[in-house]
Amino acid sequence: MQTFSYHTHTNNFGIYDGHNSPDEMMDKAESIGFTELGISNHLICKPGSYCWSSQNFDDFAKAETVYLKTADKIREAAARHKIKVYVGFEVDYYKSADWRRDFEKLKNRLNVDYLIGSTHNLMNHDASWVQNIYHMKWSNIQVDDETLKDGIKNYWLNVIESIKSGYFDFIAHLDVIKIFGLGLEPEWDEYKWMVIEALDKTKHPFELNTSGWTKAGEQHPHTWMLKELAKRDVPIVINDDAHSVDLLGRYFAEAENLLTELNYTNRWKLQK
Ligand SMILES: [Zn+2]
Ligand SMILES: [Zn+2]
Repeated sequence: MQTFSYHTHTNNFGIYDGHNSPDEMMDKAESIGFTELGISNHLICKPGSYCWSSQNFDDFAKAETVYLKTADKIREAAARHKIKVYVGFEVDYYKSADWRRDFEKLKNRLNVDYLIGSTHNLMNHDASWVQNIYHMKWSNIQVDDETLKDGIKNYWLNVIESIKSGYFDFIAHLDVIKIFGLGLEPEWDEYKWMVIEALDKTKHPFELNTSGWTKAGEQHPHTWMLKELAKRDVPIVINDDAHSVDLLGRYFAEAENLLTELNYTNRWKLQK
């Protein structure tokens, strides 16, 4: 059984969507026999956009102080614990040249152990329109059919670009939009195949995210995608995406069973 999770969230400074402090997460991880814990709060920066959760970062420079402080707080807590702790961020990727230029600068300054590449948004081709899927559902924001389809298409293309970017240690929840029933029609299979091909080509690590069992009735990504990725020997890591102490290690036994069934042997972990 895998005894670590690299995708977890805390509540530092009240701006993140985790429910517990780094100390609480580390205490709990130790108590359930985890040998390592990666804390990966959201790094969401997009000009004019919303940054998790009560503070807006409309540019990277303003956000930088908070991210640096976040990493320091986690390291301080880690010094009080025995468990091996890694500090990372779950980054919302954007493919625009402007975003990448700013992100590269920030990335150099952050000096963290790892970065997760994520897409939580529907968007148009140049990301001048971006719609966070959670806000869309929770605030019941209406999007017309054409915009929705284009948004889903660009969701998949963004996932693919995040794989190709080379910025990330692994890619999160490939099909996270399915928690709101998005991207499930057969017409999207061709994009899911493109995701598989991009991962295969670079042998890029990705996660089996067990939060899908709570939110969508199955893990992320779909079992058929896992089967194809297993055949291609793409490295995989199990993560719980825990936003609170009680979610650490959720469905890990089920995930292990599934990977055994699929004969998925190429397991990834941080080497530091
Ligand atoms: Zn996420
Ligand atoms: Zn997450």
